[in-house]
Amino acid sequence: MENLDKCIHCHKCRDNCDFLSKYGIDICDTSRLRKLAYHCFLCGKCTQVCPVGIDGREIIMGMRRERASSDEHAQIEETYKGLIGEKRNYRFRNWKSVTSGSIFFPGCNFPSMYPKTNSVLSKLFAEHGIGTVYECCGKPIAELGLADDEEMIINGIRERLKAASVTEIVTACPNCRDFFGDRLGVKVISVYEKLTELGAGKKISGDVELYMPCPDREKKLWVKEMSPFIEGEIIINDSAQCCGLGGSAMVHEKDIADGFVTKLSNSAENRIFTYCASCAGRFRRKGLKEADHILPFIMGTDEQPDTLKSYLNRVMTKIK
Ligand code: SF4
Ligand code: SF4
Repeated sequence: MENLDKCIHCHKCRDNCDFLSKYGIDICDTSRLRKLAYHCFLCGKCTQVCPVGIDGREIIMGMRRERASSDEHAQIEETYKGLIGEKRNYRFRNWKSVTSGSIFFPGCNFPSMYPKTNSVLSKLFAEHGIGTVYECCGKPIAELGLADDEEMIINGIRERLKAASVTEIVTACPNCRDFFGDRLGVKVISVYEKLTELGAGKKISGDVELYMPCPDREKKLWVKEMSPFIEGEIIINDSAQCCGLGGSAMVHEKDIADGFVTKLSNSAENRIFTYCASCAGRFRRKGLKEADHILPFIMGTDEQPDTLKSYLNRVMTKIK
């Protein structure tokens, strides 16, 4: 575990996190934090604000891994059995259209929430010899601290990529890209980079108020890569530390999770755009009517998240 001796007890992590504030703890309060490790949204805000570079998110991930490999394992399996049942051995995996070279990897939630836009993208990429693969990257399982399952998922994806001679993954999900990093031995790029390369997609006129999903906050890679599609200014709205879905913490902290959406709703001056299908769906489900994923607008479908049939849409990816 990371060296916490350098902590200067400034409380910045607590002051910037609704979860730590609720329990009156800092990242360095490890004995209490360990008991609450599954209440953390894994958003990384504590890591960003710590003046001495302590990675709070990684500390909590370490605690989750320890607990998941202890005698608490069965209880963790029981608490998250729905998620684990779907994603440990991804139930809707479909590699029928895999191509050598580049593949489109929309992730679990983009095709669930935006089936029409997903079809438009899939068709466009197919015209350029890029097949679509339906798979879960493994991040939801990894975030539960299930390290052996995480390794099994990554190894399985690596083997399937190798067998098909894939060299590039084009993903529509910031979580997938962040989670893969350089672990797969292939290039992982955003859908916006590929659309720019192909000269596809249309520009959005005017300014865009943007909510950044957790994994892109530090580097803002996706913000840079989508900027060619935005004619006006990009105004970042960082009022909420997470959409509420991060780290599966909502199971324990529903009120905090709902509070994030309220903060965003109260601070938004315009329609809020984001670029994570899970965030967009979550905002809509919580009644934020002026919250949209930016990709359907770039692709000209102007599609709203299909919050009613999202699961069915995911099932359908199995038979595409
Ligand atoms: S990762 Fe996010 S929710 Fe967890 S302690 Fe850090 S700031 Fe709080
Ligand atoms: S922000 Fe960093 S230095 Fe400050 S209390 Fe939290 S862990 Fe310690």
